[in-house]
Amino acid sequence: MKPCYRDTMDPNIILGLAKRRGFFFPSFEIYGGMAGLYDYGPLGSTMKTNIESLWRNNYVMREGMSEIFSPIISPEDVFRASGHLSEFTDFSVQCQKCNQAFRADHLLEEVEDNPDAMSQDELQEAMVKHGIKCPSCKGGLSEPVSVNLMFKTMVGPIGGRDGYMRPETAQAMFFNFHLLYKFNREKLPFGIVQLGKGFRNEISPRQSITRVREFNMMEAEVFFDPSNKVWPGFDEVSSKTLRLLPDGADEQDITLRDAVDKGIIANEPLAYFMHLTQHILTSAGLDSKKLRFRQHLKTEMAHYAEDCWDCEAMTGYGWLELVGIADRGCYDLQSHIDESGAELTAFIRFPEPIEMEATIIVPNLSALGPLFKGKAGAIATKLSEMPCDGLDTAIPIVLDMDGEEVSIPPECFTISQEKKKVSGKRIVPHVIEPSYGLDRIFYTVMDHNYKEDGEYVTLGLPVTIAPIKFGVFPLMSKDGLDDMASDIDKKLRQKGLLTYYDGSGTIGRRYARMDEAGTPFCITVDYETKEDGCVTIRDRDTKDQKRVKMDDLERIAISLADSSLAFEAIG
Ligand code: AMP
Repeated sequence: MKPCYRDTMDPNIILGLAKRRGFFFPSFEIYGGMAGLYDYGPLGSTMKTNIESLWRNNYVMREGMSEIFSPIISPEDVFRASGHLSEFTDFSVQCQKCNQAFRADHLLEEVEDNPDAMSQDELQEAMVKHGIKCPSCKGGLSEPVSVNLMFKTMVGPIGGRDGYMRPETAQAMFFNFHLLYKFNREKLPFGIVQLGKGFRNEISPRQSITRVREFNMMEAEVFFDPSNKVWPGFDEVSSKTLRLLPDGADEQDITLRDAVDKGIIANEPLAYFMHLTQHILTSAGLDSKKLRFRQHLKTEMAHYAEDCWDCEAMTGYGWLELVGIADRGCYDLQSHIDESGAELTAFIRFPEPIEMEATIIVPNLSALGPLFKGKAGAIATKLSEMPCDGLDTAIPIVLDMDGEEVSIPPECFTISQEKKKVSGKRIVPHVIEPSYGLDRIFYTVMDHNYKEDGEYVTLGLPVTIAPIKFGVFPLMSKDGLDDMASDIDKKLRQKGLLTYYDGSGTIGRRYARMDEAGTPFCITVDYETKEDGCVTIRDRDTKDQKRVKMDDLERIAISLADSSLAFEAIG
């Protein structure tokens, strides 16, 4: 089936609306602005929170993952382990006339397929071949140089330690694995999430909030045993369809089951989280006809990644990566094990103990007992389950006993070769990482829901995402109608529904303001209200109106706002 994409929105129209209605705007404007930094205004902040809540409802409430919240400033060791210190780079070129810097691959986007997968030499060759000049002043450009994108800082003003602003929220979910594994009762699979800021010193921030230097991420790390190929819950979604653009093949609509069986998507957990991503994005109001999953090219994919897909949306800026979903193998945990020496592993129990020839640690209980008293038994168990490859029997073993470091002297254990019943094995778990860029999703929600009828603008946001749920108006700001409307406004806010009281201008102007702000419903108090105790509720999308009793209003409003009641179903 040929994909069908509707017309795309002119970004300037979205930016105009975003500024006019307080969704987002460039930061520090009165001081000349600063590239790549944006403010979310009053409506934008609320809408951002609503997108986060939708995401949490899926990952934390529905999938049962646990959320953590860790520092932004991180020591250099973390990024030496993760590879960001050496690898988190882009190629920059600088204009020799006006000194502006540009990302080399961005300048080649119109003339090359996938320039972001090109090496330094390939970029230079392509720049020469296509005669690329400075987009601002047409000056000559330098050769591409590799620059690291992390913001460096000093932790402690004098004699401090090098630190970095994290470029993603993911690392804390890896370097805390041992604690999180314990929290999850030492069972796989389990998922951890973190929402928060990421910082990248982009060479050329552009396209409003879609490429900024400080942005908002929602990330999950799903730890699993790679020998277990089935994923709980996969069967329930396996007949659903995704639009895939696999590496080296045509765009196609295909069921999750077929995509996994044909080896297009590497495994069930990856396919499951791709489907969850599609579900969350369409629930946020994105148009499924303008979404696709693009597989990373072999040249684009990190060497350790088993498979990687970007969920992309068609926007006024063209195809935009909103979410990256990768099977990262055991790379991240193994890197932190190598860098820190910490034991970031999981113990997988066999269905039945297996007899095998093994090098084992034999705990010496008569030495452990007097030294560790009540803890000796637990220490002995832990010692006997430990891997003993390369263990030096002349030095103490340091064990982590419920967060406490315990040093076990050499006289407390021996190493021996024997046949033993092994109850399980230690593995470094594999990880699926769905990484969502909140700001890009935010932009796309506005882009996909903008509607114009002549001059009349409606932002058709889903009820859950809309910042204001109800506009509340008195027909006239007099004769007690204003007091009645204020009372309704106050009561709905006390119930946790964000409302907007508007008593000025014609009723048509007030509806128009709310439609442009994406408010799904408006409530009007009129002269009849005094007679019959009813108010009018108007639906943004159909413009239909219904009269409801004031006594029923709170209940109806709550049900409309949580989408348990459709407007058409109001009696
Ligand atoms: P990455 O870790 O590079 O896969 O990024 C994860 C997600 O963050 C991407 O899918 C984007 O949605 C978002 N993202 C990455 N860089 C930026 C940026 N400079 N500005 C806004 N969003 C970004």
